[in-house]
Amino acid sequence: MSAPVKIQYLKGIGPAKAKLFERLEIQTVQDLLHYYPRTYQDRRLNTPPNEYNSGALIVFKGRVLSTQQVPAKSILIFKAILEDEKGHTLECTWFKRRMFRARFDPFGSLKKDFYLHNEVWVIGRKNDRGAMFSNQITVEEYYVAADVLTQLHAGRITPIYGLTEGLTNKQCRQFMYEALQSESLSGEPEILPPFLLKKRQLLSAPQALKAIHFPHSQAELDAARTRLAYEEFLLLATAWGIKRTQTKVLAKDYAYEIKKNLLTPFREQLGFTFTNSQKKVIHEIFNDLLSARPMNRLLQGDVGSGKTVVALCAMLLAVENGYQAVLMAPTEILAEQHFLTFKRILKELPVNVAVLTSSTKTAEKKKILKGLADGTIHILVGTHAVIQDNVQFHNLRLAVIDEQHRFGVKQRSKLKEKTAKLDLLTMTATPIPRTLALAFYGDLDVSTLSELPPGRQPILTECATSKLAYDRVRSEVEKGRQAYIVFPLIEESEKISAKAVTEEFEKLKNVFPQFRLAVLHGQMNQHEKEQVMADFAVHKTDILVATPVIEVGIDVKNATVMVIENAERFGLASLHQLRGRVGRGEHASYCVLVPQHAGSVARERVDIICATRDGFKIGERDMQLRGPGEILGTRQSGELEFKAGDIFKDRVILYQAITDRDELLSADPGLLKPEHALFKRKLQELYQQNWHLIDLS
Ligand code: ADP
Ligand code: MG
Repeated sequence: MSAPVKIQYLKGIGPAKAKLFERLEIQTVQDLLHYYPRTYQDRRLNTPPNEYNSGALIVFKGRVLSTQQVPAKSILIFKAILEDEKGHTLECTWFKRRMFRARFDPFGSLKKDFYLHNEVWVIGRKNDRGAMFSNQITVEEYYVAADVLTQLHAGRITPIYGLTEGLTNKQCRQFMYEALQSESLSGEPEILPPFLLKKRQLLSAPQALKAIHFPHSQAELDAARTRLAYEEFLLLATAWGIKRTQTKVLAKDYAYEIKKNLLTPFREQLGFTFTNSQKKVIHEIFNDLLSARPMNRLLQGDVGSGKTVVALCAMLLAVENGYQAVLMAPTEILAEQHFLTFKRILKELPVNVAVLTSSTKTAEKKKILKGLADGTIHILVGTHAVIQDNVQFHNLRLAVIDEQHRFGVKQRSKLKEKTAKLDLLTMTATPIPRTLALAFYGDLDVSTLSELPPGRQPILTECATSKLAYDRVRSEVEKGRQAYIVFPLIEESEKISAKAVTEEFEKLKNVFPQFRLAVLHGQMNQHEKEQVMADFAVHKTDILVATPVIEVGIDVKNATVMVIENAERFGLASLHQLRGRVGRGEHASYCVLVPQHAGSVARERVDIICATRDGFKIGERDMQLRGPGEILGTRQSGELEFKAGDIFKDRVILYQAITDRDELLSADPGLLKPEHALFKRKLQELYQQNWHLIDLS
């Protein structure tokens, strides 16, 4: 690879322009070449302008038929009428403010180019307002046909770049052209393994770069995009693949056996039978546990699909074998609820369960720590605190992370580090398309719960005013049901939100004087929170007014109304999660969204939630709206934001890259062959530092 060339060496770029490019993170000519267009305009067209509606982009090439300067009081107008080869005409207008500098002609440079019979390209938006001719445009860009560089800007599929102030697209295209002419392009290394280039019949690296900026046809542009997207996907997929092989080598120094002395009685007293989907997933998990390498499985299943009992089966298998298991939840409330559920379900079994969070009292904590160390506690439930503190286990083998997407990115990688030698089951209710998950995690197996337990009642989702929402609450509570009323977090601050929700709580007490209301927010202490949840669970209260602390996991079957205030402030996944708090029992349920301001994206989210209950679809839309990086919670933000590729539109290419990654790594696991040296170097450059995980040296 040749040394990077500073961008100043390009014709026309001085220190000032270089500064502008720095803002776009472009310092070298190579950076510039890899700054792909944001979009393209098809400027090949020369369709008669009268065939377009007003506002449409007009691209027109013609000779100057006449020009005219219209005197007006405060603005100056310059007009030119063009005629193309077929005799179509177009009126172009420019407006300038009158300047009181006597000798300065604001149209001076225009007049130099727009003289009789000169041939020009004009690009602009059609306007139909009171034009003398119906074909009138306001010109955005124009180019003299005879200029050599005009072919960069007009008469072609034209690149449009993401700009910064002080930089125009015209300049960008010309610099790009310079860069493509320079030595740097021929020095652009071909990093893709030759056998894959051939197999997929991809453009070479220099060809692709040329065509991504200045394609000669749509087909060439597609080919360039394909090549560049493929390269990005292959690099990431290979990085994950290498990581996966590294984890695979690790073998467990313990083994499981299915004894059924706990699992059978557990199933018999559960009170329901597993869905087929649960059976299948339990089977997959047991296979992992019985195998020689540590499990690393993601269990995805929509809200209410019954992930908890699946996890419990895995934990019981561990306990049957004399091992300990831990379940971590993102909030104390959820941890507490799991603990109560487990205690209830395991009542008749010789299994000890404990709960540990950061607000567990010291004396209690001491007792639990002792039980964990001597092995008398079999299952520990808690927040991430349980493995961060100096908690010593007797023989911990299995870790379950519930609602893993709710943990912060940092917490997640910490958890990953701490559980590296354990069997690990992570669970999420934000389902991501299975293949995408496979592609990006690479080192992860994925199970999906694809059905809800039978007998679930539909949830009617509606958008309404507070008043109508409260009518709904009233009529349900009168029928003996319970309701949630949720307010959004304010500026991400629990403290201010707590205050706001407490104020709303006071108001709501007047709205519903005949009912029993309780309030729940993150600032209450653990004991208060537990008490409020417990009271609600046994119907000592009718209406729970809360911040989104109740978003995850809460399971009260008699609750049938979820009112979400200021619904536009919630993300799609949160809305879906909140709605999942109702419709858990035998009664028909309602989710009422009460938006306050209706911005367009917000409005779209609300519409999507009203239209579908399918968490899979919602997850996919969410990813499209927010970008995948945030949702998959990747180590480095932006890791999944590709420059050329789009994981939705380019799925076919993505799958090809994954297949090819497998082929590449099985042929040359260490990427030691000379023809893979450049590819390996690129991988190191991109991932070694940030990932700490790929040993490629
Ligand atoms: P999630 O997947 O959202 O974590 P949960 O594990 O909380 O869902 O399950 C939701 C509810 O469904 C719980 O009350 C649970 O007891 C119940 N449930 C789970 N599996 C079944 C089943 N096979 N049949 C009936 N109810 C079930
Ligand atoms: Mg759950």
